[in-house]
Amino acid sequence: MTTRSARIDSWVDSANTPTTDFPLNNLPFGVFSEPGDSARRVGVAIGDFILDLAMVCRAGLLPGVSEDVFANDCINDFMSLGPDVWRSTRTKLTDLLAVAGDPALKDNAPLCGQALIRQDVATLHLPVRVAEYTDFYAGRQHATNVGTMFRGADNALPPNWLHIPIGYNGRASTVVVSGTDVRRPRGQIKSPDDEMPEFSACRRLDIELEMGAIVGQSNPMGTSVTVEQAQEMIFGYVLLNDWSARDIQAWEYQPLGPFQAKAFATSISPWVVTAAALETFAVPAPPREVPLLPYLNDAGPMNYDIELEVLIQPASRSDETVISRTNASHLYYSSAQQLAHHSVSGCAMNVGDLLGTGTISGDTPDSFGSLLEMSWGAQRPVDVGGGKTRTFIEDGDVLTLAGYAQGPDYRIGFGRCTGRVLPAHE
Ligand code: CA
Repeated sequence: MTTRSARIDSWVDSANTPTTDFPLNNLPFGVFSEPGDSARRVGVAIGDFILDLAMVCRAGLLPGVSEDVFANDCINDFMSLGPDVWRSTRTKLTDLLAVAGDPALKDNAPLCGQALIRQDVATLHLPVRVAEYTDFYAGRQHATNVGTMFRGADNALPPNWLHIPIGYNGRASTVVVSGTDVRRPRGQIKSPDDEMPEFSACRRLDIELEMGAIVGQSNPMGTSVTVEQAQEMIFGYVLLNDWSARDIQAWEYQPLGPFQAKAFATSISPWVVTAAALETFAVPAPPREVPLLPYLNDAGPMNYDIELEVLIQPASRSDETVISRTNASHLYYSSAQQLAHHSVSGCAMNVGDLLGTGTISGDTPDSFGSLLEMSWGAQRPVDVGGGKTRTFIEDGDVLTLAGYAQGPDYRIGFGRCTGRVLPAHE
């Protein structure tokens, strides 16, 4: 494994604790507002604070970017400026926040007082105006587990799976930021033994632990991008919970894949961790069982060593329990490979596109990324603490995803992606 970058110390003290999600090495982008002020702005997280980039820009400390890019309700305009500006802005912000850097911000007490906002008083909003949302299926263990349950062990992995990063077009309209309640969906359900489907509230509501790649550049219709180009187009990553209605899915999914089972909600974490911050955590993909077609070949290590976990706070309990721990390095196809494949037909990709990786499951039940797998289709109830168990989600349960890449004395954290389940409409 390559040596990982050392921590860069910041004069914002809370950024130097080993367990903060937001050391100076991270600098994830988000959109926030303050109490009593509905105006949304773009900021970066630093320790316990948010640095208001609109304010820093107005003070003339971010040359090359105009203030309206950050006095904005999403990061799309900033992403549109391209990788050179992403890099120069990251370099400048690192310099302004480092102990041994440019003192222009540190020594300006009035500006610091205005531009550094405590995270615990701010409201975080959806960071990206999601152009379109595509969900892939790039976790091999997950695909094998679900295939085994839905079609039997002999047909678990579809015949195309080792060749194609399988995906489907999801809904951007229901992508929500962490903290947004999720309403239990209703739909058609039919068990194999039933003669007719029924219309009902979902009885098998589930989560899917995924990462989401945020596309920060576009390609015109009729063109495609290579894996290397795709890697350059990805601005950053979020945690993504692809809420899933398993009973609706089982009845509707053939032949065109999931539809209403996935359309009702997708939650993402509020901080977009940049590809630049993760660069030092890149790891090779798992061994290839069959060679990939050349347009999909790995162009270097493009997976990331990111520790992931799923937590549940069951309804009526005040504490939460970790029910799964896994790692993003299990993904068979990187987000760059998914993006290259997405464009290969000549499909235009746009700034603000969101690509879900697919559920990330490890090899053992305590590392599975969905309750469907953890409970093996409701056959093995999962211990959720306080003497309670779950097979699927009950009304009032709060589900949370968390993750970080571990450096030598810091971690690149993603924060949390959380959502409470509300009862279905009558
Ligand atoms: Ca999914």
